[in-house]
Order: sequence, then C-alpha cells, then structure tokens
Amino acid sequence: MASSPWPLPADAPSAADLSRCVHCGLCINACPTFAVTGLEAESPRGRIALARAVDEGVIPLTAAVQSHWDLCLQCRACEAVCPSGVAYGRIIEHVKAQVAAAPAKDAAPRRLRRFLLRNVVARPRVLAAVVAPARWWAGSLPRRALRKSGAKWLPSRLAAMEAQLPRHPGRPLRAGDSLPVPGEASTEAVLFTGCVMGELFGGVHRATASVLARRGVRAIAVEGQGCCGALHAHDGDLAFARDLARRNIDALPGDDPIIVNSAGCGAAMKEYGQLLHADPRYADRAAAFAARVRDFSEFVAALDTPAAGHFPARVAYQDACHLAHAQRIREQPRALLRAIAGCDLVETPGADLCCGAAGIYSLVEPGMSAALRTRKADAFRDSAPDVIVTANPGCQMQYEAAVREAGIDARVMHLAEALDEAERRAPRA
Ligand code: SF4
Ligand code: SF4
Repeated sequence: MASSPWPLPADAPSAADLSRCVHCGLCINACPTFAVTGLEAESPRGRIALARAVDEGVIPLTAAVQSHWDLCLQCRACEAVCPSGVAYGRIIEHVKAQVAAAPAKDAAPRRLRRFLLRNVVARPRVLAAVVAPARWWAGSLPRRALRKSGAKWLPSRLAAMEAQLPRHPGRPLRAGDSLPVPGEASTEAVLFTGCVMGELFGGVHRATASVLARRGVRAIAVEGQGCCGALHAHDGDLAFARDLARRNIDALPGDDPIIVNSAGCGAAMKEYGQLLHADPRYADRAAAFAARVRDFSEFVAALDTPAAGHFPARVAYQDACHLAHAQRIREQPRALLRAIAGCDLVETPGADLCCGAAGIYSLVEPGMSAALRTRKADAFRDSAPDVIVTANPGCQMQYEAAVREAGIDARVMHLAEALDEAERRAPRA
C-alpha cells in the first residue's frame, strides 16, 4: 500500500471531498482572509488546491503551506456559497488535524495550546478557577477607572484580550445549576451550558431560560454535560473532540431538545453524527443526539408565540458564522428582533462577515483578527447602532473590543438578553 503524504492518515481529508471543488472561484469574495489579503493562497479555492496538491504528493507539507491553513478562520462562509457543495468545514478540520500532527518550528506553542484546551477548557473545575479572576476584573472598579483614564497599561496583545472581556459578566451558570421555572411548563428542554459560555456569560444562560419559561418551556441545565469540543476540533485535536462528544452523548440521554445559545457549540453538536460516524458504539447515538440540537433562535422562532416586549433601540444584528454559514440560520434571529415593538433593526454592511473572533483565532492570529474587528467597527461607526446583537460568546467578546477600541457608544448583547430585556419591560398580556 502506498504511504500517505499526511502525518495522521486515519484523519486525512478525503480525496472525494477535495475533488469536489471545481475551482470556479464563486466562494472567493465571501472569504474574509481573501478580502483582507487579496491572495489566492488565503482563499478557500487556494487552500483546497494546496490540500489537494499535498494529498496527491505534488508538494510536501511544508511550514509555508501550513501557514495558509492556519490563517483560515474556519468561518465556513465559503461553504455556504459553494454551488458544488464542497464540505469545506470538514476538509479544513481534517487538514488542521494533519497540521497539528506535523513536525513544526512552533511545536512548543502548539503543544501548550493543546494542553490548555484539554486540561483547562475541557475541565469545568479548572476552568472555573482560571476564569474567576478575569470575571472579577471584568466588572471591577479599577478596570472602569483605568478605562476612563485611557491609560495603556498592558502590552498590545494582552490589551486586545482584556478589551474582549464582557463589561458585566453575570454570575456563572454551570451544569447542574437551577434555572428560572415557568408558571406552567408544557414541555422540557435541555440547556447546553458549555465551557467558557457558562463561566463568562451566565447571564445569557439565565436570559435564555427566562425567554423559554415565558413560552412554557422549562430549561434544565442537566448535570454531567461539558465542553462541546468545537475548539479542539478546530485546532486539529479530533481525537479529543470525539471524547468530549461521547461524554455529552452519555450525559444527555432522552428525546428532549437540546437548546444551544452559542453558535459555535451548536454547529459542532449538530455534526456529532459526522464526527463519530466511524465509531460503531456511538455512530447511531451521535446522529440521534445531533438531531435534537437546536439553536436558541431556531427553537424560539419555531414556537411561533405572539410577539411581546418593548426594546426602543437601533439594533445591528451581526450573524455568527457558525449560525449563518454552518447552521444556515439567518432569518430567525432577525424575525424575532423585528417583532419586538420599538426595535429598529438596521442591516450593516458585512453583517455576515466573520468578526475575527473564531474561537481561539484572535489569540493565535491577532493581526488578521484585529483587521476584521476594525472592519466591523467601521461599519458600526457608519450605521450608529445603540445595540449590537449576536448569538455567540466569542463574537460578543470581539464586539466588546471593537466598540471599546473605536470609542463607539453601543451595548453588545446576546439575542437572548435582548429578548429577555424587552419582555421584562413589556410582558406578554
Ligand atoms: S470551493 Fe466551491 S465555490 Fe469555491 S472554488 Fe471550489 S467549487 Fe468553486
Ligand atoms: S472558512 Fe472562512 S476564512 Fe476559511 S477559506 Fe472559508 S471563507 Fe475563507
């Protein structure tokens, strides 16, 4: 048998997936990294061509080749517009698994990243201990005072991370915690609590449960669930992502819908069937689990309850990539916002272009991430929204940094928070 050109043949991108691309280039203008660089090698077509060339043994897997894949945000905007149905998300996850396994000059930082993703992000108690000081700092008086003074006290890379912290992180909400209960519950649903989401955005989870409770749905943060594995898969650690998927499948049996308010987690969990398709013990259960997963906006819009609430604000909704491109959910969040009295929904240019957060991308590719954040800030400056609404914690953090850096006076909210605030102001009769 011929030896594979890939260092991890079991997880190599499939030749069938790669050959589906007909090089038409219709995806290129949807690609944020092409928009910033103008380079073919930083476009989806270029990245697929490189993977195919490696797969066919035409070129070796060099550091230069890997760098083009590393700059990919895995936003999947290209996949959503591809007329040939190229599964770019699947291709790039398998390509990243090869990059992670290949010898590299920057092996030490890669190893550290993998260690942290496995031993901090995926371990709830460790993550809670690590995030606690950041959560305290995010809402603290010294932080507010330093912001007011305009003092630059951190090196630029750390300053960008600090700027991403939410202004008012709520109390954490973790698996097993109690949630608002409806007066009369007609149905139950699992609330997926996640990892960073539960630690830094407990308020979003509570808002999600409140919105559901007003619609007669009791949300339960079932104990034993944990990180979805999306960050690990995107970083090329497919083996660990599979472990995390199995843990969630074991922890969340039954038929109740699983409500996810983080677009990245929802997209990953809807693809558990694909992730575990070669696992004879889990393949069927993974597919059944994936079929229960619903994004918050998808679930609430389908309940079709009469509009309620009051939200007197100019609102710019920004698509989260893994909601718009991976889950193809664009209209439901907009429809929910449009239905609220007083809500003036404005479409900003590039609303569905990646903000540059992309999981841990803003930490490992800070230059491209900052370029995309600036594009968003420019759009906000032009359209002057009062509130920026999105549906993913990483995007929320990136928009916090964008408005802060650009001196824009706008609140950043999750869709669930906006609906909850509106409905608290003017409850359903
Ligand atoms: S990925 Fe799709 S849209 Fe892009 S070049 Fe290939 S076939 Fe065309
Ligand atoms: S996933 Fe996003 S950044 Fe990567 S090639 Fe596709 S459009 Fe470009």
